[in-house]
Amino acid sequence: MSAVGTEQAAAWVQAFAERVAEQRDHLTELDSAIGDADHGTNLDRGMTAALAGLQATPPADAAALLKAVAMTMISKVGGTSGPLYGTFFLRMSTALGDGRPAEVAAAFRAGVDGVVARGKAEPGDKTMVDALLPAAEALTDAVGAGEPLDAALRSAAEAAARGRDAVTASVARKGRASYLGERSAGHVDPGAASAVLLVESAAALAGG
Ligand code: ADP
Ligand code: MG
Ligand code: MG
Repeated sequence: MSAVGTEQAAAWVQAFAERVAEQRDHLTELDSAIGDADHGTNLDRGMTAALAGLQATPPADAAALLKAVAMTMISKVGGTSGPLYGTFFLRMSTALGDGRPAEVAAAFRAGVDGVVARGKAEPGDKTMVDALLPAAEALTDAVGAGEPLDAALRSAAEAAARGRDAVTASVARKGRASYLGERSAGHVDPGAASAVLLVESAAALAGG
C-alpha cells in the first residue's frame, strides 16, 4: 500500500465497522464498568449507518468518504464518542491530500488534534486520546524515518495498544468515567479500546 485512495479508505472504514460489530458486547461491557454501558452499541450503530450511507451514496474520493462517515457518526451516535470520532474523521478528510504516507500521517495527526480540541482531554486523562496520540506519534515517526506505510501502521497500532494499557491503572479525568473518581482505576477505558480497533483495522489492511 503506497497511497490511500478511495478503495483503501473504504476498506479501512469497512474493517473498523466489522471489528466494532465483533467487539460490540466487549466494548459495552467495558463501558458498563466505568460508564453507562453503551459504547459498543453507540459505535456499532454509527458505523453500521456509515456503511449504509456509503453504499447509498458512493463518495467521489477518499476525502469525501471520510467526511460522509464523520457526518453519520456525529448525527447518529448519541454518546460523547460519536462527535469525537466524527471530528476525527472530518479533520482527517480535510488533511488527506493525495493520500501519500506523509499525508496519511499528517491527516491522522490532524484527526487526533481535532479530538483533543473538541474534547479537551489531556494525555493521561484516560480517554481515547491516550490510544490515539501515541498512534499518531508512532505513525509520524515511522513515516518520517522512511518506513513503508504498512510497517508504519503496524507500529501505530502497537503504540495505540500500549497507550490504552498504560492508562488502565489511572483515574479517569474526562467523560462519565471521571464521575467515579478513584473507582475508575483498574478498568480499561472503552474509548481507548475502540481507538485501538480503529488503528488495528488500518494495520490489518496493510497486511499486519
Ligand atoms: P458516553 O460516555 O456519552 O456514553 P461513549 O460510551 O460512547 O459515550 O464513549 C465513552 C468514551 O468516550 C470514553 O471511554 C472515553 O474514551 C471517550 N471520552 C469521553 N469524554 C472524552 C473527552 N472529553 N475527550 C476524549 N474522549 C472522551
Ligand atoms: Mg457510554
Ligand atoms: Mg451514553
